[in-house]
Amino acid sequence: MTIVFKISDNLKNKVIDYYKDKRKEKTPPYAIFQAMEDDTTITLYESGKLMFQGTSADIDANIWIDLEKKLNERIINQDGTETKVKEKKAEDFMALSTIGSDEVGTGDFFGPIVVTATFVSTNDFAFLKNLGVRDSKKLTDEKIKTIAPEIMKRIPYVTTILDNETYNKYYSKSNNMNKIKAILHNKALYELKNKKNFNYAKIVIDEFCSQENYYKYIDSVPDKVMHITFMTKAEDQVLSVGCASIISRYIFLQKMDELSDMVHIPLPKGAGNNVDKIAQEIKDEYGLDYLQQIAKMNFGNASKLN
Ligand code: MG
Repeated sequence: MTIVFKISDNLKNKVIDYYKDKRKEKTPPYAIFQAMEDDTTITLYESGKLMFQGTSADIDANIWIDLEKKLNERIINQDGTETKVKEKKAEDFMALSTIGSDEVGTGDFFGPIVVTATFVSTNDFAFLKNLGVRDSKKLTDEKIKTIAPEIMKRIPYVTTILDNETYNKYYSKSNNMNKIKAILHNKALYELKNKKNFNYAKIVIDEFCSQENYYKYIDSVPDKVMHITFMTKAEDQVLSVGCASIISRYIFLQKMDELSDMVHIPLPKGAGNNVDKIAQEIKDEYGLDYLQQIAKMNFGNASKLN
């Protein structure tokens, strides 16, 4: 039995991670990997097609089909075609006034975590579209620097910044990045809602964990915002989340500039090899305690330090 279907980028990383220890030595042409689990051969192609071969191929494939549906709200039909459940939902959101939140800095070794919540009314739609508001990840830093101040002048927002020292303290207690994110999102949303009685239809978070976990993570917080819609790729589809993403990014860039000035070294974003090198330089120059004030010490980069 052979089952083939196309998976989203979202699921791709999970698939790669899951089969990383079951990989075969040889990779077929145009494949990212081929793996073997029990009697099933699993091949992931560069095109995003995932293939299962073997007598229990359907059982193995179904686990991923279900997860895909959950992650992206897509339904994969029997014949391999797909139906998007979300398209309808996204259309609806484009006609609503919403509160939305998004975070930046969780994938960067250096610098704080920045979470912003905004309120975008339908009256702001034309203004934001003219500015070219889209997901901050797709905009260059230069573009962010020009449009963010314009957005911040017009759109109500609240930003929560978690500095590295506090982050490291929290992380060593909880060992859970998503819990930290959830608490920060909740804080920004709560403070924004407290500012004014905004006339919103929905509150949307760019989904980073399941709804159940999110509410579990904020359980001990006294001031909670509930009834949230969790949506993957929300920054593309909901303008309040798009604005939150841009403002967060803008403030993160400012913080990175400040930290770079402080250490007299331009700090790189992300968590790649270039980051290892700079981290080592900072440790050598200022010591480990100092590094802890500007970096997330649970990242792999920190364990590579000499
Ligand atoms: Mg996001």
